[in-house]
Amino acid sequence: MIKKLVVAFSIANLCFFRAWREILSPQTLSRLYFWKEYPIHAAGEALAINLLLVTSILLVGFTVLWPRGRLARNFVRVVFLVVLLRALNAVRAQFEPLSTGQLRAFLGSAGYFIAGLIIFGLLIFLIIRFGLTRVARAGVVVALILSPLGLIGLIQLSWLTVKYRDFWHDQPAAPLLKSTNDQPRVVWLIFDEMSEYQAFANRPPGFSMPNFDRLRAEAVSATNAFPPAGHTTQSMPALLTGKLIASVKPSAPDELMLQFPDRPGPVKWSAEPDIFTEAHNAGFNSALVGWFHPYCRIEGSRLSACVWQPANLFGDPDRFSFSKNLWKQQADLLMLVPGTKLLRTWLSPRSFDDYRAPHLAAYETLLAAAKRAVVDEKVGLTFIHLPVPHPPYIYDREHAVSDIKGERQYLDNLALTDRALGELRNAMEAAGVWERTTLVVSSDHWWRADFWRPVKNFWTTGDAAIQSNRVDHRVPLIIRLAGQRTRATYTPAINTVLTRDLILEFLGRRISRPDEITDWLDRHRTIGESPYQAYDDPE
Ligand SMILES: [Zn+2]
Repeated sequence: MIKKLVVAFSIANLCFFRAWREILSPQTLSRLYFWKEYPIHAAGEALAINLLLVTSILLVGFTVLWPRGRLARNFVRVVFLVVLLRALNAVRAQFEPLSTGQLRAFLGSAGYFIAGLIIFGLLIFLIIRFGLTRVARAGVVVALILSPLGLIGLIQLSWLTVKYRDFWHDQPAAPLLKSTNDQPRVVWLIFDEMSEYQAFANRPPGFSMPNFDRLRAEAVSATNAFPPAGHTTQSMPALLTGKLIASVKPSAPDELMLQFPDRPGPVKWSAEPDIFTEAHNAGFNSALVGWFHPYCRIEGSRLSACVWQPANLFGDPDRFSFSKNLWKQQADLLMLVPGTKLLRTWLSPRSFDDYRAPHLAAYETLLAAAKRAVVDEKVGLTFIHLPVPHPPYIYDREHAVSDIKGERQYLDNLALTDRALGELRNAMEAAGVWERTTLVVSSDHWWRADFWRPVKNFWTTGDAAIQSNRVDHRVPLIIRLAGQRTRATYTPAINTVLTRDLILEFLGRRISRPDEITDWLDRHRTIGESPYQAYDDPE
């Protein structure tokens, strides 16, 4: 009985080889940084249950059929051999050098077909020469030899679960420092992927951003500001540390390695002082509401309050659902049966190229948290990083409602950005803190129209019309000092990596007039465009 159980388990395990590979693959693990939850729980639990289920079905099928005479036994042997060979073939296809595409390229279509015929012929020859019983016995030996694979997988899965268990918690908040109402207050607002060109420099006719225009009438606007990098992973830590970063690499769910250009090796973000460390040293509480980076896992203990939401752009959001994993793994079993591709697609449709629903959910969660954060009297520095106007597009600007079904465009998300600014300002006005708050608004990078063009829901026909000939790399930098009433424009090229130092000047009460901002920028500006403009992290 134990031998039958081991053989059934081994066959079931081989059938789920693809699911195993997805769970344990290094690619899955390298993306843990970007995820809010631990994906291995849902997929691993589903796999364990599926393994149990298929093992039981095989065992019950055998127990019922085996005593029913010679014909039934031969039927069991044939089914056993077919399932074993299909499963082994599926295992073969998971290895790149042996994948069907590679073999076809190597042998040619005819060669591949002939190789298949030879293997099939060999099997028939073996059955004729040695009899079905002996061939099936040889199959049992193969299954027994491969049976430890499942145990190894389960051990590896348990080890990963234990290893990464502690990385998934947000750090405990910093104890509150004593604060007074006459302390400076700064709100630093980053709208992801907001372009100076489309919003202000070359705004399309008929498009309006009333809240931004109202803000700019009482603020200093830098019209040639460039971000520290071309993508969020690199730009945000550069803004917060106030230093250009040459490259970044996630190393754990709660760690990003930063390579500064002037240092020999990468350093941990969690160990690198940034604006929150400085603010704390100067006696200020800081709060953060942010998208994309797991801020609260990395530096939650520098903040008196922290909320974050993941980007959901790194793979199937369904991977966190136990039931969807269970179903998908079962549907994938159909791969073992030739000619079932359509049925499989119908049973388990791949819907994960549409990120609009999770994007809207992240936006709404973060905006609600931001509205609470910006009115907190105990906090001196509030940092907000919102996921708009970054695509996918989630807003209908004509009807001023969210929309995750229609074909929207960058301008819709830009209108939503304007609305978010208005809502945050209203919240501060209603709480009576607006006039004593210094507001800094910028972005982490420009609108990467050249990058999104091939991506569904990230680029629509309306976008082509408002794009500049060359992708414009400028981002807004708008600073309204507490109580400011006058408009000022700063035109020399600057890099927003200096924002951190400028904000520390505000907190230190060393700058309180618009002309002091422009003087400070004149004295501290170095480069305009950053040398780091890649859109992806180096692997
Ligand atoms: Zn970004």
